[in-house]
Amino acid sequence: MPCLLLLALAGRLIQQERELAATRERQHREALVLDLGNRLAARLERIRLQVSAGVAAVPALELIAHRDGDSLQLPWEAGSSAFLWPASEAVRAAIAAGEREELAERAPARAIAHYRSAMAAATAPGEKAYARLLLARALHASGREPDALREYRAIAGLGPGVTDNQQIPIALYAVERLAALEGPSESLQSVLETFADSIELSPAALHLVADLVEGTSTLRERIDERIRRTEQAARLQRDIGRVLPREDEPRAWIPYGEPLWLVGATQVSGRNAVIAVSVEKLVRTMVAEDATLQGFDLVAGRDGGGESLGSAFPGLRAVLPQLRTSADEEAVARRHFLIAALAAVLATSLIAAWLLLRDVRREVRLADLRSQFVSSVSHELKTPLSAIRMFAESLRMGRATEPQQRDEYLEIIVNESERLSRLLENVLEFSKIERGDRHYKLEWGDLAEVVRAAVRAVQYPLQQMGFRLELEIAQDLSPVRIDADAVEQAVLNLLANAMKYSGTSREIGLRLEQSAGQAILRVIDSGLGIPLNEQEKIFEKFYRARNSDGVSGAGLGLALVAHIAKAHDGRVTVQSEPGRGSTFSMFFPLETS
Ligand code: ADP
Repeated sequence: MPCLLLLALAGRLIQQERELAATRERQHREALVLDLGNRLAARLERIRLQVSAGVAAVPALELIAHRDGDSLQLPWEAGSSAFLWPASEAVRAAIAAGEREELAERAPARAIAHYRSAMAAATAPGEKAYARLLLARALHASGREPDALREYRAIAGLGPGVTDNQQIPIALYAVERLAALEGPSESLQSVLETFADSIELSPAALHLVADLVEGTSTLRERIDERIRRTEQAARLQRDIGRVLPREDEPRAWIPYGEPLWLVGATQVSGRNAVIAVSVEKLVRTMVAEDATLQGFDLVAGRDGGGESLGSAFPGLRAVLPQLRTSADEEAVARRHFLIAALAAVLATSLIAAWLLLRDVRREVRLADLRSQFVSSVSHELKTPLSAIRMFAESLRMGRATEPQQRDEYLEIIVNESERLSRLLENVLEFSKIERGDRHYKLEWGDLAEVVRAAVRAVQYPLQQMGFRLELEIAQDLSPVRIDADAVEQAVLNLLANAMKYSGTSREIGLRLEQSAGQAILRVIDSGLGIPLNEQEKIFEKFYRARNSDGVSGAGLGLALVAHIAKAHDGRVTVQSEPGRGSTFSMFFPLETS
């Protein structure tokens, strides 16, 4: 019952602990989401400000584009230096003359001067660069390779800002020529690198750069990534009206596309603009700055799970890092402790219950044996008493006329009363032991003498019942400290048992020997024997084995023998086999001085 109560209590405690942990985790989650939202907003705000201030390299920024109503002007479309064909009349005329000489007349040397004058007439950087490209071509065709290379290099150095009207930087054409003429070189790669980083390259220009980059390299990967980015920017250009419906949309950040961008509105040089920030790069820098955010991610839509980040980030959800606070760990430890304590209490209760049950069973058995004992003792008393009474009455009534018959009657009366007094002695002795009143008086004595006295005492019944006792006493036995009366009683009990449980056998052995520092007394019979599983129990008080059916006794004899042996610092053992007889051995330690 208390165990059940405890179980219920512990169950409740664990349940409460769980609920508490869940609430704690929810609160922690909410706080974390709030904090993450704030951090994200601050970071994006900083990007917004940096863009407005015209900072050149803003980390995680993917796109800045001017916005006019629902139309978005992508960076590569905004180039003011775009070379718009047809150019000015003077430049066009010079170029046409040059191309006639170079291509129709096949006189590139003569075309050189025309191209030079086209260059001189050009005002826009794109025009000038284009004329120069033609000049380099004519120089090369007329065999002036070093001059041609010098021109190409100069054009390659113009960078991504000077484009033709397809928004392809003219420098790229020069790079292409140089690569064809000289083969790939490091200086060309570094020129291409500056192109890869330029935010203003159109998708077409990027594809050209990608073609010029050799094989698969990190540069190539970067350019491929840039291509994907510009393609996404082109898609955003198409979708802007739906993504950020209002030009003056205040401060919200909208998730867009794959890879995921956050798109927001800002002002650049007094004009409306849209900026896009890479979520992946943003998350990466946030996690790098704060290791506890390991596992944190931002996703769009509900499919990716996560928690909403509030109205500043509609549609954006934060996947939170694994939450494991020290409070959680404490809770887990507390739970484990509780379970362990509960298990210990349960185990103790079970052990206690088992011990109790064992005790109760033992008591019940003892009570059984006691009641058996009372009936067997009464029976034991009754038999000799009625014999004594019967023969005494016969004598009194003068029924025994012959002196020999009278002697026989008297003999029986004496024997029966001796049996009676032995039984009473056992009972008295036993009750003394039970009360704790039995004290033994150990004195140096001769065990052989004690054994002989016992044999004398049983001589008559042995003879009467036709037993042959074989007595063997070793020579030169050392004196032993004994309580002679007690030991004699023990030997008498063993001999009485040997007679009682001999069945049809009429041989009994009694041996006294000395070995390994102890005196050993053995009583040997060839009678009924004792089943193995009862050999230990027969030394318990009141216990009578299965073989005792029909044999008188009270189950006290061997308990007394064991008690006496123990009082002498010795012990008693039995070796027995059912049907072949038993040997009871008492061991007495010899004192070595
Ligand atoms: P009891 O009065 O029954 O003889 P004991 O304490 O002397 O009581 O013996 C306990 C039981 O041990 C006996 O009931 C008997 O079953 C068994 N026992 C004792 N001695 C012998 C023996 N020599 N041979 C066979 N069984 C024996």
